[in-house]
Amino acid sequence: MNPLILDTHIDIRWPEPPDWTTHTRQLVDLPKMQAGGMSAAVFIAYVQQGKRDAAGHAQAADRAMAMLAHIRARGDAPGTRFCATPDALEACFAAGETAVLSAVENGYAMGLELARIDAWRRLGAIYLTVTHDGHNALADSARPKPALGDSVAEHGGLSALGEAAVAEMNRVGLMVDCAHVSKAGMLRAAAMSRVPIAVTHTACTALCPHPRGIDDEQLDAIRAVGGIAQITAVPAFLRTPPQGQPAQASVADIVDHMEHAIRRIGLEHVGVSSDFDGGGAVQGWKDASETPAIAAELARRGYGAREIGLLWSGNFLRVWRAVLAGAG
Ligand SMILES: [Zn+2]
Repeated sequence: MNPLILDTHIDIRWPEPPDWTTHTRQLVDLPKMQAGGMSAAVFIAYVQQGKRDAAGHAQAADRAMAMLAHIRARGDAPGTRFCATPDALEACFAAGETAVLSAVENGYAMGLELARIDAWRRLGAIYLTVTHDGHNALADSARPKPALGDSVAEHGGLSALGEAAVAEMNRVGLMVDCAHVSKAGMLRAAAMSRVPIAVTHTACTALCPHPRGIDDEQLDAIRAVGGIAQITAVPAFLRTPPQGQPAQASVADIVDHMEHAIRRIGLEHVGVSSDFDGGGAVQGWKDASETPAIAAELARRGYGAREIGLLWSGNFLRVWRAVLAGAG
């Protein structure tokens, strides 16, 4: 039996998303997921970093809520279900239906209001990516935005509000995602979170020095807290291009990064995600219909069905269950 294939980071077009149940120009839609044997997708309510003033925060909060409502409604289509717990996801998979999940990307959408974290979880979101590109009120980003006035490091990791946000995420059972977060911020979140953290779309700087990757010390921190690093399909994170050339990468590069992480911290702390429709797509895995390429490459390198299942969903589900068990 095929394992549960859960892609933990997929962007959507916004505003005016196309009907996802039809063939679209997006890299992920329901027909492409079905063609690629994909069981579940975490669609992202993404908010670009903007000015940290009342108007910017209000606009970001509204956008995130509207996107979460839209993603939730995707699970009303025949043959699909919106899932907000691991049990619901596994029941959906057992029934042969396609699971729709949601998450928020960029704590900017919280503004200064911790109560928004509970509101997102109540709408079914499963994680918050604490920053995007550019610092926010919670944490420093791995990629500051000088155009927004960012210094290299503003908070020295997490701000006091960021620490309160992590505590609130722990309380309501929203997973802490440290993709995009600075190294100091990620290490601080790992240390202070009562439950394991995730890095949902990243790569290994040991193989490709890119600010969006994580280094071996960060991998070690993930293992220490029982968390997970999901290697993603963004070419620039995977392979440094020759001077002046666009980044290009392949399925083999993704699996190289996965294997680096596996060797460093163990298979149970590693996974994979596409970041489709948000910058992800590599040779051999250009859209959701080509998803079997990842398992095929893992199998070619000697990984068995059980290990592939852990990498595609089992490890993430373990972390998610720990997050929910620690809530309250
Ligand atoms: Zn991202």
